[in-house]
Amino acid sequence: MARSADDRGTRVRERTRTRGEWPETLDVEDLLARGWRPTPFREFVLKVHSRCNLACDYCYMYEMADQGWRDQPRRMARPVVERVAERIAEHARAHGRGRVDVILHGGEPLLVGLDHLRHTVQVLRKANEPDVHIDLRLQTNGVLLDTHFLDLFDDLGVRVGVSVDGTREDHDRHRRRFDGRGTHAEVRAGLELLGSPRYRHLMSGLLTTVDLESDPVATYEALLEFAPPTVDLLLPHGNWDTPPRGWTPDGAAYGAWLVAAFDRWYHAPRRETNIRLFNEIIRLVLGRPSRTESVGLSPAALVVVETDGSIEQVDSLRSAYDGAAATPLHTLTHAFDQALYLPSVAARQIGARALGPTCAACPLARVCGGGLYPHRYRSGSGFRNPSVYCRDLYRLIEHVRQTVAADVARLREGR
Ligand code: SF4
Repeated sequence: MARSADDRGTRVRERTRTRGEWPETLDVEDLLARGWRPTPFREFVLKVHSRCNLACDYCYMYEMADQGWRDQPRRMARPVVERVAERIAEHARAHGRGRVDVILHGGEPLLVGLDHLRHTVQVLRKANEPDVHIDLRLQTNGVLLDTHFLDLFDDLGVRVGVSVDGTREDHDRHRRRFDGRGTHAEVRAGLELLGSPRYRHLMSGLLTTVDLESDPVATYEALLEFAPPTVDLLLPHGNWDTPPRGWTPDGAAYGAWLVAAFDRWYHAPRRETNIRLFNEIIRLVLGRPSRTESVGLSPAALVVVETDGSIEQVDSLRSAYDGAAATPLHTLTHAFDQALYLPSVAARQIGARALGPTCAACPLARVCGGGLYPHRYRSGSGFRNPSVYCRDLYRLIEHVRQTVAADVARLREGR
């Protein structure tokens, strides 16, 4: 049943109530007076469908603290799509951006169906092009991928990212249907189709959640079978209140897992694929800025639009607490510019100023950047803490730094 505007207002007030934690106390006026300026959004994540056909046990949408999806319409209605498209164009033009990234996301975005996807993409392009180019991607669990969808994406110029967790056994341990059946066989079939000569140019990459029960080398090699241009290795979402599975306060098991995967990837005789996390750490240790939110101090320029048109922050914040990603803004009544001045959004754009004392004193702070923002949460102090993965990140970054330094030394010596 559709909710009234009053219902929505009440729910938004509940979900954005103050908790007395950082960054609520961040003084954006003061930042502006000191010369800070927000970074316009360049990546727009559109939740075109709020439900999923799978029940993965680590999913931040459905299995963690934030249950806001229950209030959302199942799909983004056509008038909302039109409004969002206008808002993106308004934002891009106001900031002179000739190109923005739009990611069609969910839940499972393929659940909206062919016609709705076609309409969404056409509306987005019509509102923005020719002066604002839209680079469109869709992130799917891969189960429904077939030639009908892929022909549509080929026609519309939409690239596709697929979530897959490595070997069949490892994938099926977590990525299951509601009745408990694993999904690897269907995802594999979808990926083989996407990787076939006719559609290969549409593959944007694979997204894999790290699992300590999986062997890192076997996971990496299972992903290579699909010849992905890029792999995103994601640490499972967690924080100091709700630590990740298998995490211990004085261990670095995730760091060890990532080091093993890095060594297999880095020391391969040829570059087999890009692993975004490793590429970015290498860039950072060589003194360049990061291009991702997970490491480094670069400003986050991503914003999310829910199926009802409300403006939210990065999705993974949902893992912290109910309402952590919510804002009081809606594309019907607010421009994206207004989101840039919210303390919660500014906090992810101010680099080292967002770090707590432990990170500020850390020798790896410029590379690590305190880790992914949602992983820093602790009730009481909010997001001004080291990442719950601090030890893991330290171990990985130090290993990458030493490996790259040894290679640079060898090159300098002409070896
Ligand atoms: S999270 Fe840990 S490793 Fe990263 S900057 Fe903070 S103290 Fe350093």
